[in-house]
Amino acid sequence: MRSCTSCALHKGRTNAVPGSGSAGTGILIIGEGPGFNEDQQGLPFVGRSGKLLDELLAAVPIAREDVFVTNVVKCRPPDNRDPLPEEVVACRPYLNRQMELLDPRVIVTLGRHSMLRFYPEGKISKDHGKILEWEGRILFPLYHPAAGLRNPAIKKILQEDVLRLPEALRESSRLSASALAPTSNSITEIHEITEPLKPEQPAQQTAEALESNVAEVAEAQLSEPLLKNEKQEEEQGDRQLGMF
Ligand code: SF4
Repeated sequence: MRSCTSCALHKGRTNAVPGSGSAGTGILIIGEGPGFNEDQQGLPFVGRSGKLLDELLAAVPIAREDVFVTNVVKCRPPDNRDPLPEEVVACRPYLNRQMELLDPRVIVTLGRHSMLRFYPEGKISKDHGKILEWEGRILFPLYHPAAGLRNPAIKKILQEDVLRLPEALRESSRLSASALAPTSNSITEIHEITEPLKPEQPAQQTAEALESNVAEVAEAQLSEPLLKNEKQEEEQGDRQLGMF
């Protein structure tokens, strides 16, 4: 990866970011692409998004070093734009090989683009926090921590969703972990194993209203340029790529 020139992203990188961590817990966390800090250091999720990811994992509790963290594309897209489809396709063999080597029981996707790699029909505003089956493994889509930093309502949802990670691990134990990840880009049918936790009625209405609001904000922000303070964060190297 560090010497790869398979897509145009190699031209702007300081360092490729293959990933870091261990396969100990059987959890593979996949973001979207490196940001400024990650590109500088060659490590994933080392800025504010990484700090929030650490906080989310600590609530379970799981230590960062006990999971493997990587991205869909291993080199930083310029100006933190979304990875282009051809860049995702070009980088796919590396992620496929990582899945073969790590053989994860649970794949946690962070953000829309990471989820779409496994679940092209998915919608992050609808499918976040669900425990899904994908090719004999558990797929557990979450919002991207960068989205949580931009929107307190999404951060709250992230904090609630991540509490289902132990349940996702339990579900994975009943699935065969022996089948290797796909090598031909084939996607099998995904079905939900369990419904997300439902709060009591009054709270449920509040949660539904919240989610509806968040979904609207999320869709609106997908095409928004970076805000001024976010550009400052970017200049300070404190933002990992990832919208939702
Ligand atoms: Fe190679 Fe992936 Fe980097 Fe593109 S993003 S140059 S495919 S390692």
